[in-house]
Amino acid sequence: MSDSPTLFERIIAREIPSTVVYEDDRYIAIKDIAPKAPLHLLVIPKEVSTRVDEITDPQEMGELWLTAIKVARQHAEDYRLVVNCGKGGGQMVFHTHIHILAGWEGGPDQDI
Ligand code: AMP
Repeated sequence: MSDSPTLFERIIAREIPSTVVYEDDRYIAIKDIAPKAPLHLLVIPKEVSTRVDEITDPQEMGELWLTAIKVARQHAEDYRLVVNCGKGGGQMVFHTHIHILAGWEGGPDQDI
C-alpha cells in the first residue's frame, strides 16, 4: 500500500468534497461522482485496504457487507452491490469500496 492518502481517505478527511449519505466510526457512504445508475453510492471502510480480498477477518468482511446492505435499504428496496477487484476487474480507486446501484425502471440496464 502506498503512503500517500487514497482519494477516499481524502474524502473521509473532508479534504475533497463529496455528498455523504451515511457515516459511522468505521464506514462512510457517498454519492458516486459519475453515477452509472439513477442511484449510485459507494460504501467505504475508513480502515484502508487496497482491495476487498485483502480483508481476511470474517467479522470485518461481514460488517462491510452488512453496512452496504443497511445503506442500500435506506435508499432502495431493490439494488445491486458491486465490487471491482483489481485493475482487470475494473477497479480505479485502490481503497476498498462497495458500489450500490439502484433505481432503474424495470431493473438494471445490463444483466451480469
Ligand atoms: P472503482 O472503479 O470500483 O474503483 O470505482 C471508483 C468509483 O469512484 C467510480 O465509480 C468513480 O466514479 C468514483 N469516484 C471517483 N472520484 C470520485 C469522487 N471525487 N467522489 C465520488 N466518487 C468518485
